[in-house]
Amino acid sequence: GAVIGILGGGQLGRMLSVAASRLGFSTHIYEPGANPPAGQVAARVTTAGYDDVEALRAFAETVDVITYEFENIPAEALDILEPLRPIRPNRKALKVSQDRLTEKAFLTDLGLRTAPFAAVDDDIDLAEALEEIGAPAILKTRRFGYDGKGQARIMSAEDAPQALADMAGAPSILEGFVTFSHEISVIAARGLSGDIACFDPGENMHEAGILRRTTVPARLSEAQRMDAVLLAAKILNALDYVGVMGVELFVTPQGLLVNEIAPRVHNSGHWTQNGCAVDQFEQHIRAVTGWPLADGQRHADVVMENLIGDDMDRVPDLARQPDTALHLYGKSEVKPGRKMGHVNRVIRAPR
Ligand code: ATP
Ligand code: MG
Ligand code: MG
Repeated sequence: GAVIGILGGGQLGRMLSVAASRLGFSTHIYEPGANPPAGQVAARVTTAGYDDVEALRAFAETVDVITYEFENIPAEALDILEPLRPIRPNRKALKVSQDRLTEKAFLTDLGLRTAPFAAVDDDIDLAEALEEIGAPAILKTRRFGYDGKGQARIMSAEDAPQALADMAGAPSILEGFVTFSHEISVIAARGLSGDIACFDPGENMHEAGILRRTTVPARLSEAQRMDAVLLAAKILNALDYVGVMGVELFVTPQGLLVNEIAPRVHNSGHWTQNGCAVDQFEQHIRAVTGWPLADGQRHADVVMENLIGDDMDRVPDLARQPDTALHLYGKSEVKPGRKMGHVNRVIRAPR
């Protein structure tokens, strides 16, 4: 079978590798860090930095297609890889989603709604942006933020200097604070031939900036559900996207607002492992290898809960629950805030 190259060796790369192997493919992981979780299940691992031109070339030559599990791949590395093998999803998806400002501009150009936003590089920009958008607001670094890192809340103008100091000089974006009733995400896939399949939207609950729980079905009207899926499809088509994408949305009385997009399999899509015949990981592998997509149908209600840091102490207990599927990432070191695994509680399997 074909070899799939995956940039990044975390839990997402690990679960992609498992799915790939079920379809008869093997994977080659490229990861700068030692002992990556994906390395335990992949056929091959290259431990090298994204500035190692020789290692990147050698990696590309062993694989048939290149995909990735995180969006912050340096452009210089992609420049090396792109002429050698197809990169799926394509570079446009990476470029748009690596920078919150580019991302929001792309989304609003598509006619989709986001929080009001403005670019902030210094105290003058911030004062102007606050004038325009008003408080409360959130200042975020444009690049490299995840799990709520690189964000500062501004409740009133007095918070501005501290918020700016928190950005440590990084180019930033001010977003108006959205008063949402809840958050959802659509895990959507687009195949090589342009066909699209979406999983049922999940409802996401965050704690301390980190995803805690995803519940399907989400609380949505039929019209909202339709809206969510159609706007995800619009995004994928606009990017000529191939693969799985996570689209995070705020549900407000005025409709759905796009929070951010992730050009990869997504934590809020882990429920699909036990709620669908074909999960997001297999769906992504199908897309990037040119296979037909599965339809994304859900066969049960599921609550996915992340196991973060010391939550690992609950594993023996969770292992005794009959309707609970455990997914552990094989990370040896437990750290506060570190995602160690997740559980999918299957609530109802209708017959
Ligand atoms: P992820 O781990 O999902 O990539 P992230 O660090 O990129 O997270 P965001 O998704 O931008 O951060 O924000 C994290 C959470 O903070 C959101 O899910 C939401 O709960 C809250 N949040 C972010 N932006 C806003 C906003 N403009 N208004 C209200 N709440 C917000
Ligand atoms: Mg994010
Ligand atoms: Mg997010």
